Amino acid sequence: MKIIHVATECAPVAKVGGLGDVVYGLSRAFVALGHDILVIIPRYGCLREDLIDNFHLAHKGEDFDVWTGEVDGVPVYFLDIPDSFAEGLIYGGKDDPRDFIRFSTAAYQWICRFHNDVDVIHLHDWPVAPLVLHARGQHKVCGTIHNIAHQGVVKQSLVWKEGINPKNYPEVCSGFFFRRFHLLKALITYSDAVNTVSPTYAWEVMHTKKGCGLDQALKDRGDRFIGILNGVDDAYWNPKTDPYLTYKYDIKTLDSKAKLKSELRQRLGLANTHKPIIGVVTRLVHQKGLPLIEHALKSFRRYNAQVIVHGLASDDKTLARYTKLQDELSKTDDARIFLGFDEAFAHKVYGGADLLLVPSLFEPCGLTQLIALRYGTLPIVRKTGGLADTVFDVTYSGKPFSECNGFTFVEPTPAAMDKAIERAVALWRESPEQWFQLQEHAMGKDYSWRHSAQQYLDLYYAL
Ligand code: ADP
Repeated sequence: MKIIHVATECAPVAKVGGLGDVVYGLSRAFVALGHDILVIIPRYGCLREDLIDNFHLAHKGEDFDVWTGEVDGVPVYFLDIPDSFAEGLIYGGKDDPRDFIRFSTAAYQWICRFHNDVDVIHLHDWPVAPLVLHARGQHKVCGTIHNIAHQGVVKQSLVWKEGINPKNYPEVCSGFFFRRFHLLKALITYSDAVNTVSPTYAWEVMHTKKGCGLDQALKDRGDRFIGILNGVDDAYWNPKTDPYLTYKYDIKTLDSKAKLKSELRQRLGLANTHKPIIGVVTRLVHQKGLPLIEHALKSFRRYNAQVIVHGLASDDKTLARYTKLQDELSKTDDARIFLGFDEAFAHKVYGGADLLLVPSLFEPCGLTQLIALRYGTLPIVRKTGGLADTVFDVTYSGKPFSECNGFTFVEPTPAAMDKAIERAVALWRESPEQWFQLQEHAMGKDYSWRHSAQQYLDLYYAL
């Protein structure tokens, strides 16, 4: 089958969060299954060109140029559109919506001209939703919602200026004086099939406020809207071969994990004592439960544990707040904040920590807990969205022990989180044998893309 992904991220060359991992991992899974795969993303100024094999100009056009190369075996096309993405960033440029509309239109032109035989165009999130408006009735389109909180609601005048007549799409227009055009709603309404990234989140967005106003549009799609759980690329995220880890390990060589823990402590100036390390790897945004993350950082004494947060601040206010907290905590022996986006350091946290905390208010799927499981780092998560589909509490899940792999809490409150953390720390301290068994369950399970890739293929074949 010929499948083209059009997206705004593709790890590791253009990654902000899980979307990049998904486009990369899912594409590699399809390549392994023998399908014909292409990925199209913008050519950002911040693109990691050093990680692209045989990067070269493929086409010089009047309206845009196309660069290409291979990212770990996946052919990727990078559209270079004049006067767009001027700040060089993936997100956060002042003309983001306009630039993404231009990118989507250019991507469809490119597909029609050179890849018109494509079987399925797979679109990811609102920035590439405009493509479905062009492709409707011409090509089969699958749309994936990675986070329904981001919807791309723009002025109708903007889409009009970019060559799309809003009047042709009344279902996604709103307002009288302030006329709006809803890009994510367009993806939901006009794609041949729509999915989100876990079964629980699919239910939540249809039946709770987590749908952010799009619950009815999703219900209207009937069985054309489903949840497919994300996977992790198990070749990339593998503690046995991870190039970022000084010591490699698997379930039989966990001594190396202990060495990574010492290394992590040394790097951050943490005390070398008999305490578990609780790590957090995250974008520092509201969704991720910032008050709970701060509470955990300040509660290291109460937990009798060490707490490390590796976070990318999303705005200046958050950066200032976490920089201040970072200074305060640097005077202690047991808590640290490491700010910024750093792929290598994230691997070191997954490798060296004992526990990974994910206290999200909502979480479409979440990849950090899946990566942590692969690294034998037991997750403590809030039971929501994909976290609820992948982490099973050792005491409260009702699952057989052989399926339990971590700790969960329900209410998004410090008290509920503290209890889960205290249970985890107590188990680490008092029952090393049971702890090891949980690590075995975590590391032994297949969280790869294989199952989910098959579900996507079933979806494509049914279009
Ligand atoms: P989201 O997409 O909402 O950010 P996910 O859990 O789905 O959350 O995916 C997060 C991805 O981004 C993981 O691969 C994680 O390792 C990575 N990541 C998150 N924060 C950082 C950071 N500060 N530095 C490096 N990688 C990060």
